[in-house]
Amino acid sequence: MDATHPQPAVTAPPPDAPHAPAALPGRDLRQGMIRGARGRCPACGDGAMFGSYLKVSPACPSCGEDLSAQRADDGPAYLTILIVSHLVGPLLLAVYMAWQPDPLVMVAGFCVAATVLSLLMLPRIKGGLVGFQWAKRMHGFGNTDPAAPDFDSRAFNAPEPQRP
Ligand SMILES: [Zn+2]
Repeated sequence: MDATHPQPAVTAPPPDAPHAPAALPGRDLRQGMIRGARGRCPACGDGAMFGSYLKVSPACPSCGEDLSAQRADDGPAYLTILIVSHLVGPLLLAVYMAWQPDPLVMVAGFCVAATVLSLLMLPRIKGGLVGFQWAKRMHGFGNTDPAAPDFDSRAFNAPEPQRP
């Protein structure tokens, strides 16, 4: 460390800070994830979470809960591939061992089945993940004071540092 330019000491925020996560009431994780998986708002379970197939509405049309803080990103796609491949892989082997159908029939059938299964699971898994983030107050879901953006949100939206 440079002695002429001492680094500022890193200190934790005081426990009584107005937007500290510990000061906020807990949220039901199971209920939030189930409501999300059903495509409903995790807060009220009434309003639709999605404006279209996979596009999360900026806010719940029923209770007004801010849903723009979600950061599902490619998590739902990853989980869908993980689950569908573990279902279809063993089934492919079992079907071939049992009936030995024509390879073209196998390819066509399993391609359609895997695609349909993935398209059905994607919005449910994404909704569940957004419900998880909401219940755990991840990203901007923990911020109740619009004048004081939460730490995660600021870190996510911070501009890239300039390199020389
Ligand atoms: Zn709602």
